[in-house]
Amino acid sequence: MEEIRTKCLIIGSGPAGYTAAIYTSRANLQPLLYEGHQPGGQLTITTEVENFPGYPDGTTGNELMEDLRKQASRFGADIRSGIITDIDLSARPFIAKADDGSTITAEAVIICTGATARYLGLPDEQKYMGLGVSACATCDGFFYRGKRVAVVGGGDTACEEALYLSNIAKEVYMIVRKDHLRASKVMQHRVFDKSNIKVLFNTNTAGLYGEEFLEGAHLLEGKDTENERQYDLPLDGFFLAIGHTPNVSLVRDYVKLDDTGYIKTDGHSTATNVEGVFAAGDVADPHYRQAITAAGTGCRAALDVERFLNEQA
Ligand code: NDP
Repeated sequence: MEEIRTKCLIIGSGPAGYTAAIYTSRANLQPLLYEGHQPGGQLTITTEVENFPGYPDGTTGNELMEDLRKQASRFGADIRSGIITDIDLSARPFIAKADDGSTITAEAVIICTGATARYLGLPDEQKYMGLGVSACATCDGFFYRGKRVAVVGGGDTACEEALYLSNIAKEVYMIVRKDHLRASKVMQHRVFDKSNIKVLFNTNTAGLYGEEFLEGAHLLEGKDTENERQYDLPLDGFFLAIGHTPNVSLVRDYVKLDDTGYIKTDGHSTATNVEGVFAAGDVADPHYRQAITAAGTGCRAALDVERFLNEQA
């Protein structure tokens, strides 16, 4: 059981965590980073990343995260695979426990725990989880070659998932509760240009059905209108892409959250209400949620930590 002392503990390893590690290690703070449940974060389950500056031909989420990880390691960041299971933020230095049995004493903490895919809340979703229901097309799309699938949601993620699946599955339906897509125009055009993607507007999912595996969805079109109609859509796969919930369970007893459950920072910096604790990336960002904005806040958090520790010295 290792006892580790660090000036800066970084929890999480998406673009925010790795960027914070690059900056804090270059500032000679010898950060310790725990990668968490999904090393590399959400980007490792996406396909192409075309909008991260510096990659004129695009890259993949995995490559981008591997590059960031290597860059942080190069400057001496101590990157560990594992999870912080418990942290006491009531007094400084902060004490954390990791699932490898280590106890960590940290002078400052940067929380970069990201966000997790959201589900509709239908009991059937759990029933068919792994048997036709998924929240990750790039992870599970392979199983639906030549089949019929649906993606729920009308944002950029839903469009991206539908486009990815359209190259594998025979038919892709997008189930969209409004009469328009929320996604960016470029993604909308790509979806509308695909002959095997059909967008079902004004449509909600009332339930799923199937014997052992998913066989289809009960859909409700025009809910609460005079044209309301319920019908069954036979499907092999049902993919959720309806947004994310911030991962705050580790720190919610200490750190103030906003109305939607994201960590509240002070507006001008990445500081939370707990002195010495900073937040970066999707866990504190209900608005932008881009890899580049996450990386940007990771940089800001690192600079904030550096300033904070200098003030304490
Ligand atoms: P969004 O919050 O942008 O979109 C969520 C979608 O799911 C909306 O269409 C929403 O509908 C729908 N939805 C939410 N709850 C339900 C529900 N209970 N039942 C049915 N539909 C529901 O999330 P995304 O994950 O798509 O995107 C998050 C952020 O990441 C955005 O800023 C996006 O631009 C960005 N992003 C960018 C990408 C890129 O540029 N390549 C790729 C992926 C994401 P409604 O509109 O009615 O609220």
